[in-house]
Amino acid sequence: MTGTTLDDYTDRYARRVRGMTASEIRALFAVASRPEVVSLAGGAPYIAALPLDAVGEMLGRLGSEDGVTTLQYGIGQGTLELRERICEVMSLSGIDVGSGASPEDVVVTVGGQQALDLVARLFLDPGDVVLAEGPTYVGALGVFQAAQAQVVHVPMDEDGLVPEALELAIAEVSKSGRRAKFLYTIPTFQNPAGVTLTEERRERVLDICERAGLLVIEDDPYGQLGFDGDVPAPLRARRRDGVFYLSTFSKTFAPGLRVGWILAPHAVRDKLVIASEAQILCPSAYAQAAVTTYLSTMPWREQLKTYREVYRERRDALLTALQDLMPPGTTWTRPGGGLFVWASLPDGLDSKAMMPRAIAARVAYVPGTGFYADGNGAGHMRLNFSFPPPDRIREGVRRLAGVMEQEIAMRQVFGAIGGPTGRRRGQAGSDTPGPDLA
Ligand code: PMP
Repeated sequence: MTGTTLDDYTDRYARRVRGMTASEIRALFAVASRPEVVSLAGGAPYIAALPLDAVGEMLGRLGSEDGVTTLQYGIGQGTLELRERICEVMSLSGIDVGSGASPEDVVVTVGGQQALDLVARLFLDPGDVVLAEGPTYVGALGVFQAAQAQVVHVPMDEDGLVPEALELAIAEVSKSGRRAKFLYTIPTFQNPAGVTLTEERRERVLDICERAGLLVIEDDPYGQLGFDGDVPAPLRARRRDGVFYLSTFSKTFAPGLRVGWILAPHAVRDKLVIASEAQILCPSAYAQAAVTTYLSTMPWREQLKTYREVYRERRDALLTALQDLMPPGTTWTRPGGGLFVWASLPDGLDSKAMMPRAIAARVAYVPGTGFYADGNGAGHMRLNFSFPPPDRIREGVRRLAGVMEQEIAMRQVFGAIGGPTGRRRGQAGSDTPGPDLA
């Protein structure tokens, strides 16, 4: 193969690969991971808050004492022991036997990401429409784009997805003769917006989807990371038909194990397992045993409390720093849980164009354009508060505010600089997920 360049392959790519381009901001993220840069860009949980000695010991024993099974192949659906534990975890948020949840209908996946990919494989034909919040999870955009589906964004406000806007979007899609297959939604502590769909809106959104014959894909990695009291029950706790519930241990335990799941309507369960077997044969027996043992022998509820406390303190540090330091005209969401704040910049500032200057000032964030399939979002950015400690968060905001003030001053003197590079209307989302975009 010597002498073959990448270009020689372009004519051979499948159609679904054509939209797969690396994001321009990828290169910047390599720089962003240097220690001198305060990264508000990632989506990484604060793993140092785990009892790593005890977890490490448990992982060692799983190999030395149980290796004959944990290092072997397993079944495609995932172990019954883990699926039972998953039902226990879901019952904490109200998805229980009463709402029809059963280990029979759980499929264990390689993180929440494979769960998303499976749902796309099952339901999306090229050209199908997916309705999704705008902005939405960048990794979901990558999955939908690979399935050659078209994402139509539905706006949110501080109470989450706007039901009237959902109705309008459904009507417009059907008027244009296209077919919307499902609503993809992250109703609780949304990534990237940090907002939560209110109780009242949950019912309305479910009713609207039911009437329109739309499936609901509920992605809920953050529901157990609430800081301020009651969290509305998941959509799946309210309806058993037509709602697929996706979650993961990535944020409540450890993303390195890559264990997530789908709770699917019974009729679909077999198809999901077959699709998953075609992809991965079976989820890792070792990782499943690790999560099962963690949930049966270690104080995981206490650990959840620890994560919540660490993140609440960091969220407060971020909100206080934004309040104290951001230039006038900047607004932001106030998440009741999860990992992210969504900030809206003063008029005319472009988060993508500003990124190189932010990196030079040793601070990183994710430009808002990564979270839209249609090139919108340049006036926004996602800020993560789960990973950096409070003093670093404040320092990061101080640096970011400095960059923004400079941008504002330069715009006043010279007019717009950098140009509206982030606004690529009509172009498929190209910011495919990397570790910094989790
Ligand atoms: N869905 C959402 C909304 C997410 O934020 C993430 C990860 N950040 C995932 C799915 C994927 O999670 P996992 O690491 O378990 O694959």
